[in-house]
Parts: sequence; structure tokens; C-alpha cells
Amino acid sequence: MSDKLSCLRCGNCCRSIVFKLNVRNVEDREFYRARGFKVDGTRVDARVDHVCPHLVGDDCDLHGSSKPSLCRRYPGYMSDVDLLPGCGFKEKK
Ligand code: SF4
Ligand code: SF4
Repeated sequence: MSDKLSCLRCGNCCRSIVFKLNVRNVEDREFYRARGFKVDGTRVDARVDHVCPHLVGDDCDLHGSSKPSLCRRYPGYMSDVDLLPGCGFKEKK
């Protein structure tokens, strides 16, 4: 069996948007903390559940250059901690 990490085609990254913010203002960090976001120092890990309208079943209905660049490059620009639980690209710890 290959150890290579790969996409499991679960479609979960098309149902949630995950990103991190650098929030310097204490009150703004409290705003996020009060709404259940994970806050570590000035870093806020955000996850917003949103089903992309291009998701059909577990597949995208856009192909080739029609697919947004961020989607084509995902998850290459993400650090491991940002990836969704169960993502095939996530390192097993
Ligand atoms: S969450 Fe990970 S495994 Fe699932 S479709 Fe997205 S990149 Fe692939
Ligand atoms: S455009 Fe396609 S790959 Fe990008 S989030 Fe929507 S369904 Fe997923």
C-alpha cells in the first residue's frame, strides 16, 4: 500500500471553508472566541460551513480551467493544521 497522501474525493472541503486569521486586536479575538472559533495567541482558526453550489453529490461540476484556481491548487497552499479532519492529505499523527 502506498504511503502517498492523496485526495479521498469526499467533497468535505467543498462543504466547509477553513482559514486562519492573524487578529491583533484583543476585542476582535474575543468576538471570535465567543462564537466558538479556536483562538491561539493572535491566531484565529476559522471554519465556516458552506456548501459550494458547484458540488453535486461529492463531485464538482466544474472541470479544467473552469474550476477556480484556489480549488485546483487545494490543498497545496494549506498547512497541515488547516486541513479538515479525515482529509486524505492530512498527516496521520
Ligand atoms: S477534504 Fe481532502 S480528501 Fe476530501 S475532497 Fe477535500 S482534499 Fe480531498
Ligand atoms: S468549485 Fe468545485 S472544487 Fe471548488 S469548492 Fe466548489 S465544488 Fe469544490
